[in-house]
Amino acid sequence: MEKMEEKKRIVLVPVPAQGHVTPMMQLGTALNMKGFSITVVEGQFNKVSSSQNFPGFQFVTIPETESLPESVLERLGPVEFLFELNKTSEESFKDCIRQLLLQQGNDIACIIYDEYMYFCGAAAKEFNLPSVIFSTQSATNQVSRCVLSKLSAEKFLVDMEDPEVQETLMENLHPLRYKDLPTSGVGPLDRLFELCREIVNKRTASAVIINTVRCLESSSLKRLQHELGIPVYALGPLHITVSAASSLLEEDRSCVEWLNKQKPRSVVYISLGSVVQMETKEVLEMARGLFNSNQPFLWVIRPGSIAGSEWIESLPEDVIKMVSERGYIVKWAPQIEVLGHPAVGGFWSHCGWNSTLESIVEGVPMICRPFHGEQKLNALCLESIWRIGFQVQGTVERGGVERAVKRLIVDEEGADMRERALVLKENLKASVRNGGSSYNALEEIVNLM
Ligand code: UDP
Repeated sequence: MEKMEEKKRIVLVPVPAQGHVTPMMQLGTALNMKGFSITVVEGQFNKVSSSQNFPGFQFVTIPETESLPESVLERLGPVEFLFELNKTSEESFKDCIRQLLLQQGNDIACIIYDEYMYFCGAAAKEFNLPSVIFSTQSATNQVSRCVLSKLSAEKFLVDMEDPEVQETLMENLHPLRYKDLPTSGVGPLDRLFELCREIVNKRTASAVIINTVRCLESSSLKRLQHELGIPVYALGPLHITVSAASSLLEEDRSCVEWLNKQKPRSVVYISLGSVVQMETKEVLEMARGLFNSNQPFLWVIRPGSIAGSEWIESLPEDVIKMVSERGYIVKWAPQIEVLGHPAVGGFWSHCGWNSTLESIVEGVPMICRPFHGEQKLNALCLESIWRIGFQVQGTVERGGVERAVKRLIVDEEGADMRERALVLKENLKASVRNGGSSYNALEEIVNLM
């Protein structure tokens, strides 16, 4: 009898956050469907909530990361947290790979790790295993990181005092200017630049996979390939190729019933992703502006997303009453389904990369309210390159909120954005169909493994 070919194993290492876990699990599902066995390495913070959603996958925990208290993220901010996570995980990840090789034989075809989990590179090198980086953010963001990794914080600060430098266009990244580099809101500049250097210089991987689409970011992809000198595969949007239930919070599906009762393209969907926070004052202005716009709205207010509150208890009774007259609040929505609902006419978003892709895939134009670095880059692309959204800048106040909603849902300008978004939607769907750029990239990756 002919010996059955053994399945090859892929080890996945996601970053402990919703926006990173979801696409990593989608990638794992896509590769599993191509015949690979999947092992997911998690720590205290990247429990992929319900392993029962991935019955064929193996889940292993790196012990040392359990000693990294959750408060570190809140206390130190994302950059220091990533430094700490990489420091504490390097040895325990090596142990983990050693164990896997002992228990399961030499069946690891590749380690695919999130670009921020650069500690994986050392284990790949020690055990002579192929590794591939997976990026859940845009290619443009990665190019910017390559640029930042070559800068010194002191020089950058001095340079940025010169208005001419600020306005200088980035080579092959037009219309990005020097001042658009994603440097804000993540902590001290010198530490950010250092992190960029760690990510870029500690790279031992033989390829990079990005959850993006060639037709959205062709020039950034070209430049990235040039900067890194290894193959770069754009195989997004992964959520069209596979659905992988990896929500870390429980989805409130009652909002779909509420949407069913609304007129086509009338609703503004508001969600700021899984991390960012707003002040109570801003939330109150949002509430009044949304109400005054006269449009129905579906608003995700995540527990803990209003600074200092568990949920919405800091909002006065009369505001909650006013909001519920025209709107519907949930703690967490089935976002992809919501964006695909015919009642949704626009998305007020913080412009995380997943939300950006999900909105484009459904042809929904956006009101962009980015909070920090990478989100600002996405907002800029939405506004100035793809022209399917516009930014709301400065302090949030009710008049501005009302105008923004009317501009998107009621005005001709919003209709034009929707038309362009629908064209992009078709392009993105074509990219994952047989023969499309993302479809082909996935085939190439499978062959590479
Ligand atoms: N999301 C969701 N329900 C919500 C809000 C967000 O399922 O109510 C999902 C959304 O579909 C996206 C992810 O959470 O996949 C957020 O990722 P993104 O990159 O947009 O932002 P981040 O959370 O990383 O800031």
